[in-house]
Amino acid sequence: MTRPPARRQSLRQPNEDNPCDGCHECGLRCMAGIQMTQQEFGQIVKCLQSQDAKQIRRVLDQDKRVVWFEDIETEQCLFYDVTKRRCIVYPARPLICRLFGRVEWLPCPVERPVPMLSDGLGVIQAYATEKRATFAEWCAEEGLFDLGQLATEET
Ligand code: SF4
Repeated sequence: MTRPPARRQSLRQPNEDNPCDGCHECGLRCMAGIQMTQQEFGQIVKCLQSQDAKQIRRVLDQDKRVVWFEDIETEQCLFYDVTKRRCIVYPARPLICRLFGRVEWLPCPVERPVPMLSDGLGVIQAYATEKRATFAEWCAEEGLFDLGQLATEET
């Protein structure tokens, strides 16, 4: 995948402690239907509410389909900005997103030697005992706001 020049310029210098240079090749793994706990849902809601509604609407309205072959396509995460190639809830992203490149079963796609989490399996096992649902499912359960409303709100 070719990176836009602006993005290339913004890459940080990798170092021994953090060999990730922010290339964002892992962004294609930001798939629709990511599950989260209720606490993570609450953090994402706060993160969205702290941002410009127009920008959020722009991202929510994007076509998130990725066509691989004629009859094979996938859909990217609701929160993935396919134009700017970034996560709009990055500081509040769920655990599964935080584990990308940090555990053996979610490796860095360009094989940078990012340090592995020492107890990744224990972390995910503990997490698996918590109730998890997609953002849309939590919205329906909590009735905090609906995404359609957020996406059509005028500022
Ligand atoms: S929440 Fe952010 S990091 Fe996680 S899958 Fe969605 S766009 Fe990617």
